[in-house]
Amino acid sequence: MFKCLICGFNKLEMEPYGKEYPSGEVCSCCGFQFGEDDDKGISHEGWRESWIKKGCPFWYMPDFLENWNLEEQLRGIGITLEKNNEIKNICPVCEFDGLDEPAYNMLGYGSYDICSCCGFQFGLNDDPQKIKGIKKWRENWIMDGFEWHYKPNKPEDWSPFEQLSALVNQQYENHQ
Ligand SMILES: [Zn+2]
Ligand SMILES: [Zn+2]
Repeated sequence: MFKCLICGFNKLEMEPYGKEYPSGEVCSCCGFQFGEDDDKGISHEGWRESWIKKGCPFWYMPDFLENWNLEEQLRGIGITLEKNNEIKNICPVCEFDGLDEPAYNMLGYGSYDICSCCGFQFGLNDDPQKIKGIKKWRENWIMDGFEWHYKPNKPEDWSPFEQLSALVNQQYENHQ
């Protein structure tokens, strides 16, 4: 069994580029065909990125593994899957999970979307230092009383304390 260079699925029957020529095998997981798709000029990175963006659909279901662990599989090839991006797009600032797109793509670029909850714009308000920008914005947002940014999108039963993880709540305990 061999490992797919794109998605890390380790049940390939042939080594993708083991011989002088590519195997021609299609990865059951990500659907990439070695020697065919790359021949068309599609890069492994490009395929991986779009596959992840689509939500990592298992390509050939008959080969689907009951205990498939996508995150672990990707970790095996050094890719950390943001769990958030898989199903829900979570704002890294306020942890609202209803963003239309992932806040950041695989390459770390911001989507330029504005979070309807905290008003943070990904790719803009985090410039020049992402982590610092996010933390600062979160802090201000919390200190200012968790104001919902775009009112029409505000869920009726919204509670900032439920939305924020225990860790963040703990950090700001005195201000709630
Ligand atoms: Zn694959
Ligand atoms: Zn937000």
